[in-house]
Amino acid sequence: MSSKWLSLEEALTQALNAASAVSDIEQVSIFDANNRILAQDIVANVDVPPWDNSAMDGYAVNTEALEETGSTKLELQGVITAGMRADTPLQKGKAFKIMTGAPVPDNANAVVMVENTSECDGQIIINKSPLPHENIRKKANDIACGDTLLQKGTRMHAEHLMLLSSQGKDTVEVFRKLRVGVVATGSELASPGSTRADTQIYESNRVGICSILQNENVELIDFGIVEDDEVSLRKLFIDASDRVDVMVSSGGVSVGDADYVKDIIAELGAIDFWKIAVKPGKPFALGKIHNTLFCGLPGNPVSSFVTAKLLVVPIIKKMQGQSEYHAPLSVNATIMAPLKRRAGRRDFQRATMVKNARGEWEVTPFKSQSSGVMTSITAANCLMIVPEDVSELNIGDTVQVMPLHA
Ligand code: AMP
Ligand code: MG
Repeated sequence: MSSKWLSLEEALTQALNAASAVSDIEQVSIFDANNRILAQDIVANVDVPPWDNSAMDGYAVNTEALEETGSTKLELQGVITAGMRADTPLQKGKAFKIMTGAPVPDNANAVVMVENTSECDGQIIINKSPLPHENIRKKANDIACGDTLLQKGTRMHAEHLMLLSSQGKDTVEVFRKLRVGVVATGSELASPGSTRADTQIYESNRVGICSILQNENVELIDFGIVEDDEVSLRKLFIDASDRVDVMVSSGGVSVGDADYVKDIIAELGAIDFWKIAVKPGKPFALGKIHNTLFCGLPGNPVSSFVTAKLLVVPIIKKMQGQSEYHAPLSVNATIMAPLKRRAGRRDFQRATMVKNARGEWEVTPFKSQSSGVMTSITAANCLMIVPEDVSELNIGDTVQVMPLHA
């Protein structure tokens, strides 16, 4: 167990090293695969498009024939709509009317868009001659057979699933869903919806952690609230190690008299306990019982919210089999209020960001940054990042801000 202060990056690296990805694979419909992790490389076996086709509603012509005859008046040879094919090649002096997506007939090498034509006595007048290949989407110009389209470990969204569908695939192999348990520890906690005793507060972390993790598309198991009691906690963690891949707890990881979480995980398995140089945050416990990884978050609601986003989400993504992790998006903003603080930890200050008339972001941190103040998160729309070594910021300085919701 180490009590050294770690930077967020050091903690993340160590946590990701301890987190191993699931390997079980299942086949699901592409309609159920949004936000799932691809478990196979996808190689194209269909050319897209499968033949040269028209990019416009217009007329298929041959530019050489147009040049040779010098005539811009053409006879209509036929009409090709999407889903059909011309049964004869284009003849000299003629044009096929063609719709977007329809196969270009043999002998045609360009499509003139309708807007550049007119009709006169049943004949087509080309008002603007096309260049060779104009408005023709070439066979395989998007995807050619043999191309690697998607890599194992990709988190799939609409665009990836459309690509699979365009290959004729209606199912896809994905890693099984990660089973994640969530529990709030604390003898002072009352469940929302229940009657609260005089000595209790309503519990708020479980629903926050669950909501953050729902975005990752995990299978959540709610272990409810457990009192600060060694017997109950021991039973909880043994049960969790049988049922989930990851257990996320809040509370009881600090140095208080009733903070048993880390001792019990250490007794049943192994634990690393860190102080992370972030604010809000600080205590974070990472442990393992058998194959179950434990993330012990601080009980303070704002701290549990921030550490869930900064540490638990990347751990979950790695364990789901996602190959790449991108840190949450942050952008430059100009600070609109001066700030003084004690340097040392990286501060994630609750703040509001707005775009000014020049389209640049301006950020105003809240005056109260106490990590006990829940309303500071709801009123904020971003976290403003103050680097470890900075003790003072003045109006006009540039800082990084992390939007809470993209
Ligand atoms: P702890 O990390 O257990 O020392 O808790 C730190 C502070 O957060 C205490 O004031 C707790 O009452 C409070 N707290 C712990 N867990 C929760 C929770 N699930 N919901 C709301 N407050 C909590
Ligand atoms: Mg507690």
